[in-house]
Amino acid sequence: MNSTPLRFASLSLPPSPPRRFHHKLPSYGPKSALFFPALFLPPRSCPGRGSRRGRGGPARALDAAQSFDYESRALEDLENRSRLKIAIVGFGNFGQFLARTFAKQGHALLAHSRSDHSVAARSIGVDFYGDPHDLCEQHPDVVILCSSILSSDAVLRSLPFQRLRRSTLFVDVLSVKEFPKNLFLRTLPPHFDILCTHPMFGPESGKHGWADLPFVYEKVRIIDTEERVDRCRRFLDIFAREGCRMVEMSCAEHDENSAESQFLTHTIGRILSKLQLKPTTIATKGYETLLQLEENTCSDSFDLYNGLFMYNYNSTELLERLDMAFDSVKKELLGRLHDIVRKQLFESPDDDDERMAKDS
Ligand code: NAP
Repeated sequence: MNSTPLRFASLSLPPSPPRRFHHKLPSYGPKSALFFPALFLPPRSCPGRGSRRGRGGPARALDAAQSFDYESRALEDLENRSRLKIAIVGFGNFGQFLARTFAKQGHALLAHSRSDHSVAARSIGVDFYGDPHDLCEQHPDVVILCSSILSSDAVLRSLPFQRLRRSTLFVDVLSVKEFPKNLFLRTLPPHFDILCTHPMFGPESGKHGWADLPFVYEKVRIIDTEERVDRCRRFLDIFAREGCRMVEMSCAEHDENSAESQFLTHTIGRILSKLQLKPTTIATKGYETLLQLEENTCSDSFDLYNGLFMYNYNSTELLERLDMAFDSVKKELLGRLHDIVRKQLFESPDDDDERMAKDS
């Protein structure tokens, strides 16, 4: 396939038709010809087919143009089919972070948010709608709920579902999972598909790319038609293409695990920020890690942290365990100190001399 432009370079063909998203959709690039060879051959009925190969004669301009047009049209069709129209609802820190990668991959993007983020949206190539009715009238394939955990219920209910296509796929990216799953099941009409996800990284931890970062998801309700199953796969593929570690897991299991991993991490980061730690020229690796942890966690909004606590049953127990663990470490240290002080207070130096004499 790569040799095609060279082979035709000497023929006076019209300029190549635009391959709008070719470079942006790598897994459908030239390599895909290996998997879909039929797409890149002229149809069997095409008069030019086989004439060059069969007779070994020189390529004629007409043959070349037909083959070339067919190939570029097939490629464009394939690219258009992979392209999703994605509406991001909640276009704050994380919504914009996701949009940059979606845009890089060539998807059509729309956004709506409480505040006016139209300037930021334009700079990423996203159409911003202040009114959710206008957004829904664009009939996106996918609506992603990306608002704060605390506001998600109200934000979801503010959307005019009747303006959307009946087959719309709803996705959430909230950092807790059982809550949005139940919210979607309770609120969305039964004809919408539901995918609950948690990209377990953010603008700080994912600033150098998403490779090997975990992406957790549960297909809560994907109606079993080829088109809907394929659309869900294409959405998940956005993250797989970036190299994310794709983890299919129930929302309940996610919340059990993430109380220990995520809520604990954020809590320690928040405690560190209360200490107002400063960098030092003699910082150990461990201390640098603490400063980094503080930066990573405290750059997220307090709403996010609060949501991790309020909307995950397991977080309360974790907070109590943390409290007990801190008490227990303190008791151990202070207990030893106490023993030494008591010894100094109540035992005379003569007692020591006597003990040493006995021992010898
Ligand atoms: P956030 O503080 O959790 O959410 C900010 C977003 O919520 C903004 O779009 C904001 O809209 C909207 N919002 C807040 N209060 C609102 C209200 N009362 N009414 C309507 N909208 C409201 O910060 P975030 O980092 O952008 O996170 C967004 C979502 O992604 C959260 O659910 C979070 O759990 C999830 N997430 C975040 C990360 C991360 O690393 N940051 C990672 C994974 C998942 P306006 O900006 O228009 O005011």
